Amino acid sequence: MSTSGLKGINAVGHRGWVEVKCRICAKKLDITLDIVYACQHCRDRYDAYFCTADARRLHYRCPFCGRELQPITPWIAQKRR
Ligand SMILES: [Zn+2]
Ligand SMILES: [Zn+2]
Repeated sequence: MSTSGLKGINAVGHRGWVEVKCRICAKKLDITLDIVYACQHCRDRYDAYFCTADARRLHYRCPFCGRELQPITPWIAQKRR
């Protein structure tokens, strides 16, 4: 399945870290809207972010280090209101 607008994958503008990509399916995830799972230990090194479906498939374990994945929730990431 291809999604539109996949040009310049490496040139994706970084809006802080509001938008991340699932490491497994490359789905774009907005941490202010979606529930995103991440490994605290690998997210800087490997961009270890995962969508809920893949996090469940991984049994909520990081495929890199085997630690438990933590959900990133908007109210943790950014308190806007
Ligand atoms: Zn995914
Ligand atoms: Zn990890």
